[in-house]
Amino acid sequence: MPTPHSTSAASGSTAPQGLPFDPDALRARYRAERERRIRPEGSAQYQRPTGRFGYFDEDPYAEPLPAREPLHDRVDAVVIGGGFGGLLAGARLRQAGLDSIRVIEKGGDFGGTWYWNRYPGIHCDIESHIYLPLLEEVGYVPKWKYAPGEEIRQHARAIARTFDLYRDACFQTRATELRWDEAESEWLVSTDRDDRIRARYVVTASGTLSQTKLPGIPGIETFEGHTFHTSRWDYAYTGGSPDGNLHKLSDKRVALIGTGATAIQCVPHLGAGARELLVFQRTPSSVDVRGNRPTDPGWAASLTPGWQQRRRDNFLTLVTDGRTEEDLVDDGWTSSARLQQKLIPTGSYGDLPPEERERAEEIADFQKMNEIRARVDAVVTDPEAAELLKPWYRYMCKRPTFSDSYLQTFNRPNVTLIDTADSHGVEEITANAVVVGGTAYEVDCIIFGTGFEVGVSGITSGHLPVHGRGGTTLTEAWRNGPRTLHGFYSHGFPNLFQLGPLQNASAVNYVHILDEQAVHVAEVVAEAHRRDARYVEPTAAAEDAWLATIREKAVDLYTFHAECTPGYYNNEGKPGRRRESFADGPVAFHALLRAWRATGGMREVLVDAQQEKSTDRPPVPVPVPPVTAVRDHSDTQTGRSPAPGVPEA
Ligand code: NDP
Repeated sequence: MPTPHSTSAASGSTAPQGLPFDPDALRARYRAERERRIRPEGSAQYQRPTGRFGYFDEDPYAEPLPAREPLHDRVDAVVIGGGFGGLLAGARLRQAGLDSIRVIEKGGDFGGTWYWNRYPGIHCDIESHIYLPLLEEVGYVPKWKYAPGEEIRQHARAIARTFDLYRDACFQTRATELRWDEAESEWLVSTDRDDRIRARYVVTASGTLSQTKLPGIPGIETFEGHTFHTSRWDYAYTGGSPDGNLHKLSDKRVALIGTGATAIQCVPHLGAGARELLVFQRTPSSVDVRGNRPTDPGWAASLTPGWQQRRRDNFLTLVTDGRTEEDLVDDGWTSSARLQQKLIPTGSYGDLPPEERERAEEIADFQKMNEIRARVDAVVTDPEAAELLKPWYRYMCKRPTFSDSYLQTFNRPNVTLIDTADSHGVEEITANAVVVGGTAYEVDCIIFGTGFEVGVSGITSGHLPVHGRGGTTLTEAWRNGPRTLHGFYSHGFPNLFQLGPLQNASAVNYVHILDEQAVHVAEVVAEAHRRDARYVEPTAAAEDAWLATIREKAVDLYTFHAECTPGYYNNEGKPGRRRESFADGPVAFHALLRAWRATGGMREVLVDAQQEKSTDRPPVPVPVPPVTAVRDHSDTQTGRSPAPGVPEA
C-alpha cells in the first residue's frame, strides 16, 4: 500500500465490520512468518564478493581500457556517476549553460544500473513513459509500457549524446577523493587513473544499489561449479541474451538463490532454458499482474508538449497519497494507491485522525495482499508450491513485483521451488551442491540473485573521501549525523551537490525524483552565475533550520518497519529509529523547492566576496507550502528504510 505507517494502533477491535477476512488472524500470521525468518546477525549475514568471487565485481561488458595519460585539466563541473542521476545532472547543467561537464563513471558507458544489470528478462517495473527521463528533449517515445533493460540503456546513451556528455566523459574510472582548494576556489578531483581534475562544481550521483552482495552461507567458497551474480550475467555460460533463449543451459542443473525483484524477471527464462532449475526461496515476493503491452502509436502521436511532466506528476501524486481522480498510468502501483483512497472517506482526507487513517491503510493492505495470494492459488497448480509462494507481510515491507510469467514457471516439470525459510536461508554450499533441510541438491551452476548493499556508495558512506574547507572531511563534519540543506548541499563544502535520498523526499519512480533534484541544482548553479556568486554553500544555521523542519514532522515508521518481515527495506529486521526524510512527501518537497527558488531562497546559499567574510549569514526562512496529508511513498531503493551505511544522528 502506498504509505506504510505504524500498525500497532490498528490492532484489536477497531477493524471495520463485515470484512471477508479476519484482521487479527492476518496480523498473527504476519508476525509468525517474520519470527521464522529473522536472523540475529541482521545485515552481517551478507558479505562482499571478494577472494574467489572477486570477479563478480568485474565489468563483463567492456574491454579493459588501455592506459591513458592522466588528466590534469579544469572543467566547469565534475559529475560522479553515469547512471540516470549523473545523466540528469549533466543534462540540466548543460541546459543551465555550463560548457565543460565531465562525468566520471566506473562502468564502460552511461547507464548505471542499466549498464550493469543485463540479466534475461530485465525490464523496468515502473511505466517507461514516466521512468525514462527527458523523453521530450531526446524526442523519443518508449516502445513498451514497461521497457526492456536494453531500450533503457540505449535511452541513457541517447541522453548523453543529446546533451554532449560523451565529449568529456571518463569511463572505467573511479573518483578516489574530492578536495576543496581554498586558494583557487575549486574542487580537486582525484581518480584511480591518476587524474587530478579541477572543477568549479561537483555533483555526486553514485546511486544507491550498486555494490553486489553475497550471502555468508557456510562453504560458499568451496563450490566448484560455475557461479555468477545476476547483475553480472554470464551469457558466455548460459547462452542467449536479455531477451532469453538461454540455450547453453539445456544440459545444466541450475540453482538460483533469491526471489527478489530481479529473480522474478529472470526465473521464467531460466525455467525455459535450463534442463532443471532449482529456485531457493527464503521469502516470497508479492507478484502482481504486469500487463505489458506495446505503446499505442495513436496515443504517442497525440502527445502534446509537457506530457511527460504531467504524467510523472500525476503518478507521483497518486502513489504518495495525494488525492486525484485522474490516473494516467493506471497500473499495479496506482491501483494499489486508489484502493487505499477508496477506504479513506472523501472529504475528510486531510483531517482524518492518524489512528483511523492507519486502520484504513492496514485494511486496504490486507485486501491487496489477499488478492496477491489468491492470484498464486489461481496460477500455480501444485498446492504445496502455491502455499510456499504466498507472501505474508504488508505490501510495502518488500519491493512489490509484477510478472505474468514468474508464478507460471513453477508449473513447469523441470522447475522446483525449495523453501529455505525454516533454516533462515540456504544452510550450506558444498563443492557440488546447495544444502537445505539436510538435503544436498547437486547443481552445475549457482546464480546469486541476492541483491545489493544499501547506502555504501557515494560520499555519505565515506568510501569517497571528501575534504572541504580547512581540510575537514565530510565524515568528520557529519560525525553526529548528516547535515544538509534540502539534502543537497552542506556548510563547509562549497559548490558540492549530492543527488540522492538523503534528508529530502523520495518515491518509487526514483528517476523522476532525481530529475527534480537535478533541475533544482542546475537552477541554483544558473543563479550563481547570473549573480556572479563565488560559492553555493548554506550556512550552518540554514542546515539547522532544515534539520528542524524534517525532524519536526518526521513520520514514525519504526513500528511499521520493525513489524515487517526482514529484508533490506528494514535493515534485515533491525530498523533505525530516526527518520530523516521530508515527511510531507515529494510533491510537497518539490513545491517547497520551487517556492524557495522563486522567493529569494537562493540568496541563502549564494555567497559573494563580501558575504564570504561573514561566517554568520542569517538563514532565509524555508517557505513550507500548506500541504496536507501528502506523504512519502518511497521504497528503500529511494531511501525509505534506514540505509545501514548512512550515519544516523
Ligand atoms: P533483493 O535484495 O531484493 O533480493 C535478494 C534475494 O536473495 C531475496 O529474495 C533474499 O531473501 C534472498 N537471499 C538472501 N540471502 C539468502 C540466503 N542466505 N538464502 C536464501 N535466499 C537468500 O535483490 P534483487 O536484485 O532482487 O532486487 C534489488 C532491488 O533492485 C529491488 O528491490 C529493486 O529496488 C531493484 N530492482 C528494480 C527493478 C525494476 O524494475 N525497477 C527490477 C529488479 C530489481 P529474503 O527476502 O528472505 O531476504
